[in-house]
Amino acid sequence: MFSNKESFKENFKKRVEMLCGKSFSESTSRDHYETLGLMIREYVSNDWIKTNEKYLAVKGKQVFYLSIEYLLGKLLRQNLINLGVEGLVEKGLEELGIVLEELEEIEPDAGLGNGGLGRLAACFLDSLASLNLPGHGHGIRYKHGLFEQKIVNGYQVELPEQWLRSGNVWEIRKADLAVQIPFWGKVEAKMENGRLVFHHLHTETVTAVPYDVPVVGYHCKTVNTLRLWNAEPAQFPINKDILQYKRRTEAISEFLYPDDTHDEGKILRLKQQYFLVSASLQSIIRSYKKQHGSLNELHQQICIHINDTHPVLAIPELMRILIDEEGFGWDEAWHITKNTISYTNHTTLSEALEKWPIHIFQPLLPRIYMIVNEINERFCRELWEETPGDWDRIAKLSIIADGYVKMAHLAIVGSFSVNGVARLHTEILKEREMQPFYQLFPDKFNNKTNGIAHRRWLLKANPKLSTLISERIGNSWTSAPHELINLLKYQEDRSLLKELGKIKRANKEMLADIIYKQNGITVDPQAIFDVQVKRLHAYKRQLLNVLHILHLYNRILEDSSFRMIPRVFIFGAKASPGYYYAKKIIKLINTVADKVNNDPRVGDQMKVIFLENYRVSLAEKIFTAADVSEQISTASKEASGTGNMKFMINGALTIGTLDGANIEIHERVGDENIFIFGLTAEEVLHYYRHGGYDSDEYYHHDSRIQQIVDQLVNGFFPDVHNEFEPIFDSLLEENDQYFVLKDFASYAETQRKIGEAFKDQISWQKKCLVNIAHAGYFSSDRTIREYAKDIWDIHPVT
Ligand SMILES: *Cc1c(COP(=O)(O)O)cnc(C)c1O
Repeated sequence: MFSNKESFKENFKKRVEMLCGKSFSESTSRDHYETLGLMIREYVSNDWIKTNEKYLAVKGKQVFYLSIEYLLGKLLRQNLINLGVEGLVEKGLEELGIVLEELEEIEPDAGLGNGGLGRLAACFLDSLASLNLPGHGHGIRYKHGLFEQKIVNGYQVELPEQWLRSGNVWEIRKADLAVQIPFWGKVEAKMENGRLVFHHLHTETVTAVPYDVPVVGYHCKTVNTLRLWNAEPAQFPINKDILQYKRRTEAISEFLYPDDTHDEGKILRLKQQYFLVSASLQSIIRSYKKQHGSLNELHQQICIHINDTHPVLAIPELMRILIDEEGFGWDEAWHITKNTISYTNHTTLSEALEKWPIHIFQPLLPRIYMIVNEINERFCRELWEETPGDWDRIAKLSIIADGYVKMAHLAIVGSFSVNGVARLHTEILKEREMQPFYQLFPDKFNNKTNGIAHRRWLLKANPKLSTLISERIGNSWTSAPHELINLLKYQEDRSLLKELGKIKRANKEMLADIIYKQNGITVDPQAIFDVQVKRLHAYKRQLLNVLHILHLYNRILEDSSFRMIPRVFIFGAKASPGYYYAKKIIKLINTVADKVNNDPRVGDQMKVIFLENYRVSLAEKIFTAADVSEQISTASKEASGTGNMKFMINGALTIGTLDGANIEIHERVGDENIFIFGLTAEEVLHYYRHGGYDSDEYYHHDSRIQQIVDQLVNGFFPDVHNEFEPIFDSLLEENDQYFVLKDFASYAETQRKIGEAFKDQISWQKKCLVNIAHAGYFSSDRTIREYAKDIWDIHPVT
């Protein structure tokens, strides 16, 4: 049906009428979107089935990627590109009077994630399929993805997101593959045939129903599966509790990360985690047994990868299946489990390390708790035997301590591989945060620097730049991203550099249109587009950026001879609904924006824009239009970052600290092609350990700092009363934990250099070209190849 344009048009018209029950002339854009989606799904179904058959026939190892988040964005155009029919379909539709871009608008973002971690999972799925690797995702089919953000009077307001409102063309419900998930109840131990057997009784059972989404590889026959689990009532109990039971059950797959400030929310989150893990494992084991019979060699045939600790209950759940259902002894089960599970750590922020109170864990998951407890006791016994009497060490390493289950400890003890997501992050894990574990299991620890799906973030998001690149170096970079390095030979090619500038200009004009539509503000596409888009978090230091903007504003007002290269400062960021401080920063950005944008003395020198509801589809339009990429986290805090890579591959220059993957970007592009500033991780960690930083000194000795910090609270922003006192306090009373004031001078000076550098457009575009050329390394194809080789031991199946 996509073999040529005429047959596509014919087919499409017929199907619109068949599926929508109206004549083609009466059909709407939504009818067209849904018809096209169904045609694609039908088109891939053959390869989808064949892919699964091949995986069975080859009998090679397979990987299952468990993640509580998948930030997929939109799938329509990416699927068309990957199938190699984008041009044909776009042209065919055009001849029918239909604009493909308008159909794309109808598709909602699948926003089943918060930020980097969820987007990483989505990028990995693309690379797995495109490299013909046997790897599938498992997740939760949240009815409401990440909230929709509105800015009202400068404040963030959260609305429930509704991506399933009009159905989802990409998914197939597989009711026959449903599994049952037990909660609560109690465990009874009995001797049966001379063996202690455990029964989990009086449970409240939930049905998990899979919805499968095809993951289409790029220009290949592989179609992998993303299996999203939906929570539904099991058979109804015949009593008056029926409605409440239905509500409790459906709540499990209702919201991504429900508010967990109270115990009730905490229980729900833990329920979600076990729901995902148990449903995934039951389904993996069921099909494994069909293929292999016995589970003896499970660890040689499959790998279960857990994306952060949210799915760490996969460890006790696999133990439970092996022992309680399959009759394995503890040691055998432990050997298999430990060699099946691999784990990625995403953060060393201590407040983000998951731990669950026993008083919540034990009653909700009594059998799982017993197993975790047993794992811990055996682990602590081993420690004791190694270093008898060293209680300190045992207390530090124990999986259960002080009334909590520590999920990262469980993940490390129960897996064969622990990886960090950038070199510095892995080093910090090994040498500091998880050092005693590293000493215990040195061979488990390894680094896998993150990557991005360059086919989404360059090929799809930036068609103009992609075409230009292909004209110069051929188009094999789409499958072999390291070939982008061939662009280096054009560094002195002025016509190419000018062409690069023109494309950036065109992308900036498109973003300027969006800004005008959303914010009603006109921005000049000739200005520097200086962008910070990412989740709002204290460690990401949006505050440093906005304080610097305030400083520039002061200079414009105070020094009539001061002229800056015009800049548009663009922000996009969602704050967690319960994160009070982050919400204050959003209000501050919008307050500064209002003041700057409405002050005639500023004129066109600068504009400040907060784009609401930052998400994948908006991100695609922002990265391609950026000149400057703000990656300014407090060194040591950002595990990797992936936004930095998306900017780079679209030819934006980074202003950044030596943190996360910025370090590896810097190493590749060299000093001249990136703007590095601020404390190093080592310096930051030294201050944390030994003290020696006093933010007051910087406040008193730098008049610029004093002025901007005072302006937070001295009535400079007249309508906000004491709104920004918590920010003021964080900088002075709480001694500026993120070194905003410490890094201010170095940041301001580096920003000044950027303004200077932008004046010479040819030299600027040359730097952009060098960045694009080196971005191939940061493709998730490279990352996934490393996982496949070093951790999973999986191989392409063609
Ligand atoms: C890439 C991406 C992120 C992660 O950005 P960082 O700058 O690495 O924190 C978050 N949200 C969306 C929508 C993204 O596309």
